[in-house]
Amino acid sequence: MKYVIIGGGISGTTAAEELRKRDSHAEITIVSEEHHPLYSRVLLPHYIKGKIPRERVFLKKETWYAQQRIEWLPGVIAQHLDPRNKFVGLSNGREYPYDKLLVATGAEVRSLEGDARGVSYFRTLDDADHFLQLVMQHQEIPRGAVYGSGFIACEYINLFHHFRIPTTLVYRGNFFWNRVLEPVCGELITRHIVEHGVDLHPNEELNTIIGEKELEGFATNKQEYLAHILGIGIGLEPSFSWLRQADVEVNAGIRANEYLETSVPDVFTSGDVAEFFDPLVGRHLMVGNWMNAMSQARTVAKTMTGERTRFELVSSYATNVLGLEIIFVADVEKASADQIYLVGSLDQGGITQVFERNGQVVGGVMIGRNKDRMPITQAIQQKHSWIQLQKELIF
Ligand SMILES: Cc1cc2nc3c(=O)[nH]c(=O)nc-3n(C[C@H](O)[C@H](O)[C@H](O)COP(=O)(O)OP(=O)(O)OC[C@H]3O[C@@H](n4cnc5c(N)ncnc54)[C@H](O)[C@@H]3O)c2cc1C
Repeated sequence: MKYVIIGGGISGTTAAEELRKRDSHAEITIVSEEHHPLYSRVLLPHYIKGKIPRERVFLKKETWYAQQRIEWLPGVIAQHLDPRNKFVGLSNGREYPYDKLLVATGAEVRSLEGDARGVSYFRTLDDADHFLQLVMQHQEIPRGAVYGSGFIACEYINLFHHFRIPTTLVYRGNFFWNRVLEPVCGELITRHIVEHGVDLHPNEELNTIIGEKELEGFATNKQEYLAHILGIGIGLEPSFSWLRQADVEVNAGIRANEYLETSVPDVFTSGDVAEFFDPLVGRHLMVGNWMNAMSQARTVAKTMTGERTRFELVSSYATNVLGLEIIFVADVEKASADQIYLVGSLDQGGITQVFERNGQVVGGVMIGRNKDRMPITQAIQQKHSWIQLQKELIF
């Protein structure tokens, strides 16, 4: 059996490892756009802050692939898929035949049109090295800026704070995660950020980068800002043209059923890129977290080796901005919820937002209220209603 895996991140690599455990004779290939062996994206902020040395971010050594008899193709991109003749065309000019193909390509960051040294993105180890270089090259304290209002914006705010770099924060909406949070939850985060000295400007759109070679600042639809380092966190944008051409159904992610099978036979998907049917909440979800990417890889490896297995996990993502902990559990899209319930308040310094659909709790966001994580997770697993969950929460 020939297994080809596109993407050498945690999902692709875990799948390869599982496939090897389950099929000692299989031919397994990982096609990896990045040049590094597997490393932890979760540890990148810790590396930048100097809390761990660079070598500690690596989870595999280069020798691991050969030891596992996994063919590893670093610096190679999958560009073409022929599902009828079952091969993938690669950027190195080769065509790789497969029996089963896994697409675990994660998500590329959405980038700005203009560029200058000083503009930073944050997805890869190379991005982390670049950010560190930018911070270190300044003799005097630079001015930092962040454009965006999601997870990566939080990472940049924390990093600038760590290096004591004064920070301007600009974003298009009214508050962080405005497709997820109720205004009062947004207000809690806003207050916290402003209280920590960040110069905050909501409802502004970045138009132009200022500076020829080195970044000098940027202009929004309202005003110009001085900035020497600008962190961009405006979401993710996977490129799907090669899959679309092969009639693989894609939407925001690669559409898959609860077995992580795509619309094309023998083509599977897992990790950040998968838009999979989640039977626990009854609709397709895209989940961008480490545990989800790893668990999906383990499940899909079973299905690829003939033990068809449904993926079921209530996954969660915990982040923090300047010490305020924010946890997202399961399905947290406001537009897809029938009812939203709030526990806690601005005055208490913590609010939990619960999402209910068809009389069933499907998701939750906890801001400064970690204690609600377990009861909400259990309510989702047991398909409980808000009324049942309420008894477990401390008001
Ligand atoms: C800075 C940062 C901090 C994070 N912190 C946390 C955290 O604290 N907790 C948490 O749960 N999650 C965190 N995450 C998210 C977590 O890292 C991701 O959910 C996880 O890495 C997804 O794994 P993946 O294998 O699906 O995708 P990825 O890790 O994105 O790997 C996909 C790989 O495929 C490659 N690729 C793409 N297209 C092609 C192609 N056509 N051909 C070949 N290769 C291709 C990409 O270059 C990439 O190397 C963080 C992410 C970042 C960036």
